[in-house]
Amino acid sequence: MSDVIIAGGGLAGLAAAVRLADAGFQVHLFEERGFLGGRATSYPYPHSETEVIDNCQHILLGCCEQLLDFYERLGVAGKVRFHDRYYFLEPGGRLSTLKSGLLPAPLHFAGSFASLKFLTAGEKFALACALARMRRDRRTRDELDQITMREWLDSQRQPGRLIERFWKPVLVSAVNEDLDRMAASHGFQVLKTGMLGGPRDSAMGVPSVPLGELYGAGAWRRYSNVTIHLQTSVSEVLLDENEVRGVRIGDRVERADYYVSALPVDRASALLAPLRIPAAEFGQSPITGIHLWFDRPVTDLPHAVLLDGTLHWMFNKREGRYLLVVVSASRGLVDKSRAEVIETALRELGAYLPAVREARLEKAHVVKETKATFSARPGLDALRPGTQTRYRNLFLAGDWTRTGWPATMEGAVRSGYSAAEAISHAASL
Ligand SMILES: Cc1cc2nc3c(=O)[nH]c(=O)nc-3n(C[C@H](O)[C@H](O)[C@H](O)COP(=O)(O)OP(=O)(O)OC[C@H]3O[C@@H](n4cnc5c(N)ncnc54)[C@H](O)[C@@H]3O)c2cc1C
Repeated sequence: MSDVIIAGGGLAGLAAAVRLADAGFQVHLFEERGFLGGRATSYPYPHSETEVIDNCQHILLGCCEQLLDFYERLGVAGKVRFHDRYYFLEPGGRLSTLKSGLLPAPLHFAGSFASLKFLTAGEKFALACALARMRRDRRTRDELDQITMREWLDSQRQPGRLIERFWKPVLVSAVNEDLDRMAASHGFQVLKTGMLGGPRDSAMGVPSVPLGELYGAGAWRRYSNVTIHLQTSVSEVLLDENEVRGVRIGDRVERADYYVSALPVDRASALLAPLRIPAAEFGQSPITGIHLWFDRPVTDLPHAVLLDGTLHWMFNKREGRYLLVVVSASRGLVDKSRAEVIETALRELGAYLPAVREARLEKAHVVKETKATFSARPGLDALRPGTQTRYRNLFLAGDWTRTGWPATMEGAVRSGYSAAEAISHAASL
């Protein structure tokens, strides 16, 4: 059977590995770092012997079919817990719950939507009109890729407060970009495929174990035809006119029948210069995760959207005492010191969860991922390359390739699966 070299052990590379292994290929995966998962990973908390923390909370929706298929193949799908309700907290602590009811899609949220306290009746009407318009909008994906989400919302006369309290919290977190920078195509996809798709599609999945455990050694035991080489960087791809001859690793050259680049866009662009991947066009959008450990429980909610402030989401990681607060597209926090970020988080969190004001902070950890994702701006989709390249045995994967998704775990897995399918097809010719 043919063999394949994969460069990069993020979700794109791992997904390609499982699909190729299931198709009977011999796979060698090279990952520069000492652990798998790339940007969706976890590591030991620096000041603790027992605590393992995610680099940031990663969530998925039920509509992330290929990601769920990937977890299924690795035997870890049961380690993702699905939640059928979304909680919204206003400063002052008033809580609203959006949950799936008995009505069929897209009306499955209709019952609880009517009772949301943080929107007025007029705002709910405006929102319902926009959602209905969204389902009917016959514009093509290409057309929606030419305008920002904010432009589309303005064309629908969405009130400013509704944009701040509904559209922003839902979409900025899902796409990791501000509404006035995000292509409308991505906003449409989140709403149409996820929130309006039906109760199963809109359920929120939260891994119940640290991310790294999902692709730990145990998960790979069933794949004897996958060899993972950690701390092994691919430093050069040896290119002929029409094919790859090998990859350089240290002072040796490794060869295979097929090659998958599952590298981040800037690394792929540098190692595969003749492909002219326009890495600079992808931009970057940061995410900040603030881990807070309190001396007592401060909430019994599993998670919540935090309205009207700097913070976007709160996740209850353990017993209401360990919270992970997430700020997406967090350009405003990048230049702030760690102490300032923690101070802002505590002050604002106390407004939603009064118990925070009484509790003692035992420890805190701030993770600023300045290059968390590419910026899903209008026009970018046309620049994202597909799987095939001009080299007959080289295939591209990565969340930045043309997956139809913003930079997400689902997008990364889709790209890995596409590369694996293209290789299976090429090998069958
Ligand atoms: C803070 C944060 C929060 C996020 N939250 C979510 C979320 O809630 N939901 C969601 O769906 N997505 C989320 N994402 C996005 C998601 O993590 C990414 O889209 C996805 O993990 C990207 O996977 P990838 O395999 O394409 O790239 P990467 O994860 O970047 O993997 C590329 C791999 O290649 C390796 N590499 C680089 N150079 C070399 C080399 N020369 N040789 C060998 N290996 C090399 C890297 O070390 C890395 O492991 C988040 C991302 C971040 C950073």
